[in-house]
Amino acid sequence: KNHNLFAALRAAFPGDLDEIAVETDEELAYSWRDLHRATAMIANLLVSLKLPEGSRVAVQVEKSVEAMMLYLATLRAGYVFLPLNTAYQSAEIGYFIGNAEPAVVVCSPKNFGWVSKIAFQAGTKNVFTLGDDRTGSLLDRAAQHSDRHEVAVKGEDDLAAILYTSGTTGRSKGAMLTHGNLLSNAQVLKDYWGWVPGDVLIHALPIFHVHGLFVGIHGALINGSRMIWLGKFDPKKVIAAMPRASVFMGVPTLYVRMLQEPALDREAARNMRLFIAGSAPLLIETFNEWRERTGHTILERYGMSETIMLTSNPYRPEQGERRGGTVGFPLPGVGLRIRDDEGNDLPAEEIGGIQVRGPNVFKGYWRMPEKTAEEFTADGWFKTGDVGKVDGLGYVHIVGRSKDLIISGGYNVYPAEIEGFINELPGVAESALVGVPHPDFGEVGIAVVIAKAGAKLEPEPILATLKSRLANFKIPKRCFVVSELPRNTMGKVQKNLLREQYKGLFE
Ligand code: ATP
Ligand code: MG
Repeated sequence: KNHNLFAALRAAFPGDLDEIAVETDEELAYSWRDLHRATAMIANLLVSLKLPEGSRVAVQVEKSVEAMMLYLATLRAGYVFLPLNTAYQSAEIGYFIGNAEPAVVVCSPKNFGWVSKIAFQAGTKNVFTLGDDRTGSLLDRAAQHSDRHEVAVKGEDDLAAILYTSGTTGRSKGAMLTHGNLLSNAQVLKDYWGWVPGDVLIHALPIFHVHGLFVGIHGALINGSRMIWLGKFDPKKVIAAMPRASVFMGVPTLYVRMLQEPALDREAARNMRLFIAGSAPLLIETFNEWRERTGHTILERYGMSETIMLTSNPYRPEQGERRGGTVGFPLPGVGLRIRDDEGNDLPAEEIGGIQVRGPNVFKGYWRMPEKTAEEFTADGWFKTGDVGKVDGLGYVHIVGRSKDLIISGGYNVYPAEIEGFINELPGVAESALVGVPHPDFGEVGIAVVIAKAGAKLEPEPILATLKSRLANFKIPKRCFVVSELPRNTMGKVQKNLLREQYKGLFE
């Protein structure tokens, strides 16, 4: 049996290949036949390069349907796809290309000069360009190849992609994912989220991370579903597309931005079946406001580059309600446990490290055997690096990342708990609690707070209110009202930057 993920995605194409598979915000329409033929031609181009088994195809291009086709073609030809954040500049690209040693590099035409230089220096012989307007040498060359291609035979355990983590807590690591990892997760989600014939996905996320590349694209393709494809997120365009769509996936900041649009209401969202959020914590306030405005309850789920999706709030009412502030239940096939630092299993409601296992868990970090060994327990569970608990009803709660935990005078302070209190205060839009060095306590928490539009906030009353409600060791030692939190492209708050900024406060 061929375990190539592409074979499974291809098998899910509808019988009528002339139906539309992808329509774009530039009014282009791609049929399933277009996907079938173009991926064959690009795959044949890759095959013609006579690359060794397991070769990496590193790609840093603007989002386009052709970029997705390149991903699918890489799977189809049996090579390893390695997407790179479009924001990366020469220092980062130098690191990733040097680290991954790809046999093929595909970059934007405008970056060809400096990217090809880095690539050639690293020993890459094949550098192609791909623009977001169907220009570039990749498509020119692929056009000379046949549109017939036999899908490469792959085992479950063969690498399909290397996904560099978002780098929220430090330098990005390359997570090695297999065909089996990707396919098993796609199949579980298809069922768990109740995909039905006729579903249409609004795809508005970047395609260099697990969310847009795997959860989004696999989700639609394995259901034979059409995608409405936005090159960049635009709240107005998403709202305008809703009447023709049924599923939307977004990071929390996208929901916040859509809520600022007066056009968002029940009528606009009437045709929608499901709104999914993840990649970063969804504020309870966003969750509630979305329900009031649209009548829909956002389904929050949790995952990471190393594991694809791990937990999800229920889709079907008989499985339970979707609870804001939680990431739901472990997905079918996913084992999840909470352990303390000594390796003891913790009971419900107790906070500890989240560990997981399952067919979705990656093979290890690319060329980091020691790091890989460190992140797995002796009995084979992966330490996610996230801290959380399972409540009495079985819902998983994330309280922060282990690297963001604050140990103040010997007490654990969980950032999410304090942030939750601060966020509920009048006039507060958002907050982040980070630990900084302190001569007496070792470390103390400080709060960085964003005011709601039009609200005026002062640090002192915030701290005074917290003092009346929380134990003393949890009270931030200082509070700063600022206009913006540092975030990466996935909308994750970069706490390492905040720690760096405020580290000298108590010296
Ligand atoms: P790095 O590992 O390089 O520091 P990263 O962990 O942000 O970066 P990703 O793999 O893209 O890289 O993100 C996975 C992380 O995102 C999870 O470990 C978790 O901390 C966070 N995350 C994902 N979904 C949620 C969610 N629904 N709520 C809270 N956090 C989430
Ligand atoms: Mg991580």
